[in-house]
Amino acid sequence: MKFGTKAVHEGITPDPTTGAIMTPIYQTSTYVQEAPGQHKGYAYARGKNPTRVALERGIASLENARHGLCFSSGMGAADAVIKLLRPGDEVLATDDLYGGSYRMFTKVFAHFGITFHFVDMHDLQALEKHITPATRMLWLESPTNPMMKILDIAGCTALARKHKLLCVVDNTFATPYLQNPLDLGADIVLHSVTKYLGGHSDVIMGALMTNSDELHEKLAFIANSCGAVPGPMDSFLVLRGLKTLHLRMQRHCENGKAIAHMLRKHPKVAKVYWPGFEDHDNHAVAKKQMRDFGGMISFALREDSFEAATRVAKATHLFYLAESLGGVESLIGHPASMTHASIPREERIKTGITDSLLRLSVGVEDVEDLIEDLTQALDKA
Ligand SMILES: *Cc1c(COP(=O)(O)O)cnc(C)c1O
Repeated sequence: MKFGTKAVHEGITPDPTTGAIMTPIYQTSTYVQEAPGQHKGYAYARGKNPTRVALERGIASLENARHGLCFSSGMGAADAVIKLLRPGDEVLATDDLYGGSYRMFTKVFAHFGITFHFVDMHDLQALEKHITPATRMLWLESPTNPMMKILDIAGCTALARKHKLLCVVDNTFATPYLQNPLDLGADIVLHSVTKYLGGHSDVIMGALMTNSDELHEKLAFIANSCGAVPGPMDSFLVLRGLKTLHLRMQRHCENGKAIAHMLRKHPKVAKVYWPGFEDHDNHAVAKKQMRDFGGMISFALREDSFEAATRVAKATHLFYLAESLGGVESLIGHPASMTHASIPREERIKTGITDSLLRLSVGVEDVEDLIEDLTQALDKA
């Protein structure tokens, strides 16, 4: 089945009792048993819920995965992955990591004897030099936030296989519509479902997909033991959101492309970061591993100041100033003062997060209106 057909149909079967076309919201905590221990596969809803099971099937199929597990947030999913490790184990993570993952690794799991190294993963030979006998896992993102860097996923997974490391890819930015890391050799794919998969800015959720029965069993055990599972109402909302993922992504990509090109020509803009540009550092890799280039764009202003960025961010009407991304509505953010405020200024500027850098999550509105909105806001830069 092709992607759009899977998005509409996978995981969903008409309700056997009524024929209801949509999976019901099984708002229940427990299930009645015929005799002690005799049930229909559902004993207690922390372990399994039919609405969640339908969603897990749907989400897994979009990543060409044998297994999918949903969590109460993207961070809940990431937490379960790190719990596969033991004290003494080491993780190599990309140095341009989602801030919440960085915080959890350094402020929570570092206290449990797990060591995290943040390294540039563009150069695979340099990456290999960081691998020690204690290294257990590679953790990558592509494209990265907010600099839209592209890593060679197949290259990283080959290195992981060579050294018997688990390779985890946070595929939140790309979504399964644009790239499928499991097909490129990853062991686990992570999603903040909160973003594009949910797509409507109304749910916090995470997911893990894998083709390994053994990893799935371990992760499902952790999920049930530790309990970061989503409720049936949220599962239903994402089941509904998934049905239009391909339509939304198509428009996010079209709008993103038009806005990236418009920004690049604008006299107030110094630099635009978007993997679809032919002169993007890793455009060739992006073209190889992605089907299109998405609707996430960052750009720096000619007047590289906090004040200029604030004037622009305050002047947009359709682009709401907010954290998060991947919803139908367009958002604008200022990484230096919002998502990346905790990084010291010198370090943040070294990675490209300058004072004026703005990040867009381009929504699915009519692109003419979005361009008009940005144009009038940039006049104030
Ligand atoms: C938002 C996000 C997360 C965390 O997901 P939550 O659902 O907010 O917990 C992880 N990785 C990336 C890339 C994200 O954008």
